[in-house]
Amino acid sequence: MHKINVAVIGVGHLGEIHARIYSELPHTNLVGVCDINKDRLDKVCALLNVEGSTDYRDFFSKVEAVSIATPTKSHFEVARDFLKQGIHILVEKPFTSELKQADALIRLCKQKNLILQVGHIERFNSAFAATRNIIQEPKFIECHRLSPFTGRSIDVGVTMDLMIHDIDIVLGLVNSPVKRIDAVGAKILTHFEDIANARITFENGCVCNLTASRVSDESMRKIRIFMKNAYISLDYRNEEANIYRKVDSSITKEKLPIEKEQPLQKELSSFIECVAAKKEPLVNGPVARQALAVALNIQKKIWHSSIPSS
Ligand code: NAD
Repeated sequence: MHKINVAVIGVGHLGEIHARIYSELPHTNLVGVCDINKDRLDKVCALLNVEGSTDYRDFFSKVEAVSIATPTKSHFEVARDFLKQGIHILVEKPFTSELKQADALIRLCKQKNLILQVGHIERFNSAFAATRNIIQEPKFIECHRLSPFTGRSIDVGVTMDLMIHDIDIVLGLVNSPVKRIDAVGAKILTHFEDIANARITFENGCVCNLTASRVSDESMRKIRIFMKNAYISLDYRNEEANIYRKVDSSITKEKLPIEKEQPLQKELSSFIECVAAKKEPLVNGPVARQALAVALNIQKKIWHSSIPSS
């Protein structure tokens, strides 16, 4: 496999980690990084000893692939401009701000025969990967994603910021159309909902309850999946999972063996493999669009119902 020339656009909190990982992967050559914040740019350039620019267009003729880790509101414009130049993209979640933008990027990617991956990182979590083949026909799913306030990603609400991770996972597990969505939420520190709770009912009868908060005292990223004769409790943060099985009239508990790996490193390696082999990514445009559609629907319900005006 030849070395793929890459750049990272937006080197804030997450983009800096993308850049560091690309600088260490065996099959990538980190050509440079871009950020409109000159101080941030200079810091990351010095740290990784790479070229920097405040204008992403400077990388058009220099790379085959980019990671886009700018705030959500700029994902569409940056992604579109790179795809137009024939450059493969990994765009951070949430895919775009609007569905019509997602549709335009999916069309462009198809026309140009390019790889488009969206950064739904939990797909690469080792605990999730270990349980994936055990999960069959979930009846009820409960998700909790709580984080202290970081002041980042406040151009979107917590639904698009955090809950979208769980929405993507749940849509992949249930494999049935969404029948009904109910949602409530509240603004606490930003102009958008900082706490959200949604209940998704699927056509096949499965019900999913999702809670997300970005103003919590504690951090938690957990999913509990209830099936006919077993229940899985998975902790993404600690990469741990237990399976509880009904055996006759008692319940057994088994801790699943999990080899902990860095999920972002797995995600970026997988993207580069897809670029090199022209392989479809696990989370491609159409898959990410489904999660975006549900997140936007939840957000609309929250904004039109419970959210108090400030
Ligand atoms: P951040 O605010 O720390 O970083 C964003 C950076 O982008 C800033 O340094 C900003 O100056 C820069 N920027 C803004 N517009 C730009 C442009 N047009 N060109 C170049 N640079 C630009 O935010 P963050 O926490 O790193 O989040 C970035 C993205 O990553 C968001 O989309 C967020 O939702 C996503 N994210 C994903 C995960 C995950 O688990 N997959 C975790 C955190 C953040």
